[in-house]
Amino acid sequence: MQPTPEDHQTAAGVDWDGRSPSPSLSGPDRHPASAPTDTQQPAPDERQVSPSFPRSDSTDVVLLSSDTVLFHLHASKLNAAAAPSAAQRTWASNTSTPILVPEPSPILALMLHTVYATRPASGASPLPTLIAAIDALIKYDIEPRRLVLPGTPIYGALQTHLPTDAYDVYVLAAHHGLEDLAVEASRQALAHPVRDISDAAAARMGATYLLRLYNLYNARKDALRKLLLQGPPFHVAAAAANGVNGFGAAPAAQNPVGCGPEGEGRLGSAWEARTCSVAWNLRVDFEPDELRRALEVDGSAFDCLECEEAYEKRVEEVVESWKNTKATI
Ligand SMILES: [Zn+2]
Repeated sequence: MQPTPEDHQTAAGVDWDGRSPSPSLSGPDRHPASAPTDTQQPAPDERQVSPSFPRSDSTDVVLLSSDTVLFHLHASKLNAAAAPSAAQRTWASNTSTPILVPEPSPILALMLHTVYATRPASGASPLPTLIAAIDALIKYDIEPRRLVLPGTPIYGALQTHLPTDAYDVYVLAAHHGLEDLAVEASRQALAHPVRDISDAAAARMGATYLLRLYNLYNARKDALRKLLLQGPPFHVAAAAANGVNGFGAAPAAQNPVGCGPEGEGRLGSAWEARTCSVAWNLRVDFEPDELRRALEVDGSAFDCLECEEAYEKRVEEVVESWKNTKATI
């Protein structure tokens, strides 16, 4: 494949407004060495065109990804997405010369879907590609926090990764100040223990979001410990008043009146055994149902219906309080 004049131009790094690169724009996109060589590029008419961004009468800017896919775009869209502080650098209409960018087409496509607020046709995007795309927007003076908003396709694409990678989504959201996404991700990001946050991740999320996650973690840990400390109430007074032993001849289900110190010990031991197990493996990301299962005991642990009911009632109180414990930053 012989290089064409156009290839020479693009490989040399034509700036997005058609001028020579400014010395201050020192990104990988400004270094010809990082771009594909002329001999690797197919002739213009053989280049693949992104199906999401085909040529049309209204397109007036063409980007060429590092893997030589063409994206036909609108200068007005790109300029509208740029931060107000970047007003001095604008995209100009120029369909004759594709502008070479260092991003490969999967990342560039997601960047442009973010700018256009459109949904990728290819379905689910891997999280590393989404992260790379959002990070790369900064190089083009596009602030992700102005575009990655609830209800947008890019926000939805990130939400699909919350069940498995909430912590990574949180770090991304924190880094770019994507407040809604950070709040949403924080709920599940707690599954990642605070002590396992790496220095790099801490630096990337910044002091504010790191502290908010840390405070949430500690608040939930304290709240759960406090809930577990209070066990079910015992009904020894009722037993004394009636003078009946709950373990006696009267069936407990028909005459639930209470039981003596032995019953109280059994109730306390049951609570202690279960809560110790939960506290020992304390997880601040416990789902309420998980907590219920962790605290429940077999009914046969009690010979007294009232003790059993008192235990179950306390479990429900704990689960209900846990449901209402603040779960996001
Ligand atoms: Zn009892």
